[in-house]
Amino acid sequence: MKRIGVLTSGGDAPGMNAAIRAVVRKAIYHDIEVYGIYQGYQGLISGHIEKLELGSVGDIIHRGGTMLQSARCEEFKTLEGQKKGIEQLNKFGIEGLVVIGGDGSFMGAQKLTEHGFPTIGVPGTIDNDISGTDYTIGFDTALNTVINAIDKIRDTATSHERTYVVEVMGRDAGDLALWSGLADGAETILVPEVDYNMEDVVNRLKRGAERGKKHSIIIVAEGVGSGVDIGRDIEEKTSFETRVTVLGHIQRGGSPTASDRVLASRLGAKAVELLLSGEEGKMVGIEKNALVSHDISDALSRGHSIDEEMYRLSQELSI
Ligand code: ADP
Repeated sequence: MKRIGVLTSGGDAPGMNAAIRAVVRKAIYHDIEVYGIYQGYQGLISGHIEKLELGSVGDIIHRGGTMLQSARCEEFKTLEGQKKGIEQLNKFGIEGLVVIGGDGSFMGAQKLTEHGFPTIGVPGTIDNDISGTDYTIGFDTALNTVINAIDKIRDTATSHERTYVVEVMGRDAGDLALWSGLADGAETILVPEVDYNMEDVVNRLKRGAERGKKHSIIIVAEGVGSGVDIGRDIEEKTSFETRVTVLGHIQRGGSPTASDRVLASRLGAKAVELLLSGEEGKMVGIEKNALVSHDISDALSRGHSIDEEMYRLSQELSI
């Protein structure tokens, strides 16, 4: 293999730049040329592709977002779109591809592999919802963004006796909610993986108020539903003054944490190693702090699950 490509796709995540940098530098270290594909699968289809040099990825390791930009591309879900993408790769003489993104992007990578084009996936999403890796690139940064925000909400919560509902991202996964709730001592954490009952939530709030709690924080994962609706419901059922904060896209931005930069550097470099050793259709990941690889098809079919022990702990510590 003499020339590879790299793209970022789907929702952007802090640390994607560090992963791009690792792919580019690791490849050039091995005398392999690297081409950057802009705007994910959209740019792959349209041929928005440029050669990257060592300097192209200078000064990006600490920046959020992705220098290659990202996109959602419906056309790539079709066979025709995928064929157009492969034509472009062939036109540029690219022999292998690294796709940095979430599970949707991995489905695209799997399709390319099925069509005979060697592709490796690097998990980059703040949702931490990919099976086959303990952590995805961007999760730690987003988690820190969430807890910084909740710390501030806690300050104002202590000044007023109110119930605070905070809606956090995560799509269908509750990891960001669970981890931030545990890290911030939230009274209740609602995640899509565990059914909840509003009566329990209300009773918990009332018990807390009876034993003198001045305020409560409830974290709602976006996959559970609207924080605004849940806040309204709580206010109606408790008559406690309730305020809702939807953190939104601030969770996607910001300078990646040290942990995300290190993870991105390790996973990006590992993806290049796999391509060079003739692997395809694999994703790289980290399990028990060791680099691993799995078939993308296996990872996609297993789906994501929440750490039940951690969920129980969050409940035990917030009685
Ligand atoms: P993420 O990668 O963050 O999960 P999406 O689910 O939006 O984000 O997927 C990103 C892109 O991956 C989509 O816009 C599409 O171009 C591509 N993709 C998603 N699903 C498929 C599929 N089944 N086949 C081919 N490409 C897909």
